[in-house]
Amino acid sequence: MKKRYSFDSGSGFEADLAELRRLLAENRQYLTNYEEVFSSLEDDDYVARGNGFCDRKYSEDFVEGQKEKFARRIEMLEKWIAEWPLEALKEGNARFVAGKMARKMDYANDRERLSQGQQPFAVVLCCSDSRVAPEIVFDQGLGDLFVIRNAGNVVNEDVLGSIEYAVEHLGTPLVVVMGHSSCGAVTATCQGEDLPGHIKSIAERIRPSLDTSCCINDNARRHAQRMAQMIAENPIVKHENATVVAAFYDLRSGLVEWR
Ligand SMILES: [Zn+2]
Repeated sequence: MKKRYSFDSGSGFEADLAELRRLLAENRQYLTNYEEVFSSLEDDDYVARGNGFCDRKYSEDFVEGQKEKFARRIEMLEKWIAEWPLEALKEGNARFVAGKMARKMDYANDRERLSQGQQPFAVVLCCSDSRVAPEIVFDQGLGDLFVIRNAGNVVNEDVLGSIEYAVEHLGTPLVVVMGHSSCGAVTATCQGEDLPGHIKSIAERIRPSLDTSCCINDNARRHAQRMAQMIAENPIVKHENATVVAAFYDLRSGLVEWR
């Protein structure tokens, strides 16, 4: 989804995350040119050097002005890029809640475009519950979300490995852990029954999150927060400076609340 941005009071431009990243690289290159190329030139040598520079002399004031302009743009682009993933999820969820899904289903084009590679903007760890489908809940398309699901959205070695792959290898900047209302895995763990087979190991990962004085939904919120904390402490997630947030999805309203 594209959003409208403006560097100054002008009408601005529309961009998605990939476009913002491209603009950031472009503006960094412009700044480097003004900092390095022009500072190394004598007065009479201020001539064309590619990257949009035209064939004429530049005054020192002009060069300083350009450096300030590009530095300011870089700062704005870095801020927009940092805010983009969480805003995109919030806006997508608002569309879903309002029943106004904006995404056009053009899967043939999406498949072709994505066959070259993926650059998902968010990792979502959530429950396998059939009513909690991240791409639908956040109104996102193919290639947008790196989704990890298991009953009770628990963190284990495989989940951490998947998250590490996304943040380190794919450069995904945001990790969301999303619990939900009426979660069967949290309910079963709260009830403390003797659970059969491998369900037991899921409950063991949920149990430390629980406060028996809380209701099921508050425990699901607590559990998502604890899983988010575990992920935030992961060395690769830390090293890559990825943001980790906990969320809670309400089955009835469709609303995602952010913790
Ligand atoms: Zn669940």
